[in-house]
Amino acid sequence: MKLFLATRNDGKLAEMRRILVADVEVVGLDAVAPYDEPVEDRPTFEGNALLKARAGLAATGLPSVADDSGLCVDALNGMPGVLSARWSGPPLADKRGADARNNDLLLAQLADVPDERRGAFFACAVAFCHPDGTEAVVRGEMWGHVVREVRGSGGFGYDVLFEADEAPGVTTAELTPADKDAISHRGKALREIGPLIAAALTSAGGGTRTRTPEGTET
Ligand code: IMP
Repeated sequence: MKLFLATRNDGKLAEMRRILVADVEVVGLDAVAPYDEPVEDRPTFEGNALLKARAGLAATGLPSVADDSGLCVDALNGMPGVLSARWSGPPLADKRGADARNNDLLLAQLADVPDERRGAFFACAVAFCHPDGTEAVVRGEMWGHVVREVRGSGGFGYDVLFEADEAPGVTTAELTPADKDAISHRGKALREIGPLIAAALTSAGGGTRTRTPEGTET
C-alpha cells in the first residue's frame, strides 16, 4: 500500500514512516511525476494542508497527506502564522539563510515587548485525502514563548528562538529530535492522524467519513 506525502522534506517523510503502520510505503514529491503544486494562499493552516493534500490526490491518484505549520506570536496578533516561512521576504534557496533572516526580523519586532507578553505557539495542521472521498484534518499545537537571542543548533526555522512550556529553560533547537517530536505541534498532529490514516488504508473499500476543520463529521 502506498501513501503520498506532499513534501520534499526528508524529516517529515521519516516522521510519517515512524508513526504509520509498517506495511504502508510513504513516498514524497521526489518519487512521483512532477505536477503543479498549489499556491498556499489560504488564511488557515488547515486550509493550506487540505489544499495540498487534495492536489496530491488529484495528481497522483494515491491516498495523500500534507501539512502546513507556523509560529503564532501573541504580541503580533497571531502573526507570522501561515506566513511564517516567508515572514521576512520570499523564500531563499538557502533555507538556513531564510531562517536567519526571519529570526532577525522577529527579534527586531519583539525588541520592546516585555517578557510577560512574549507568548507564542507553533501550530501544525495535517490533512489526509483518500480516493474514496474520505478527508480528515487535525491540528497540533506547542505553546511557549519567544526568547531574546538565538540559542541552539538543532531543528529549523524559529526553533532557536522558542522555549516550549513543556521543556522550560532550553529552546526547541536545543532538544534532541526525539524530545522535540514528543511535544511538538507536528508530532501531536501526526500521532493523532496516524490511526485515522491506517484505518482508512486498511478498511476494505474504505469509508466516507469526513472530518473537516469546521468539525463536521459524517
Ligand atoms: P512548513 O509548514 O514546512 O511550510 O513550515 C512553515 C514555516 O513555519 C517554517 O519555514 C518555519 O519557519 C516555521 N515552522 C514550522 N514548524 C516549525 C518548527 O517545528 N520549528 C521551527 N519553525 C517551524
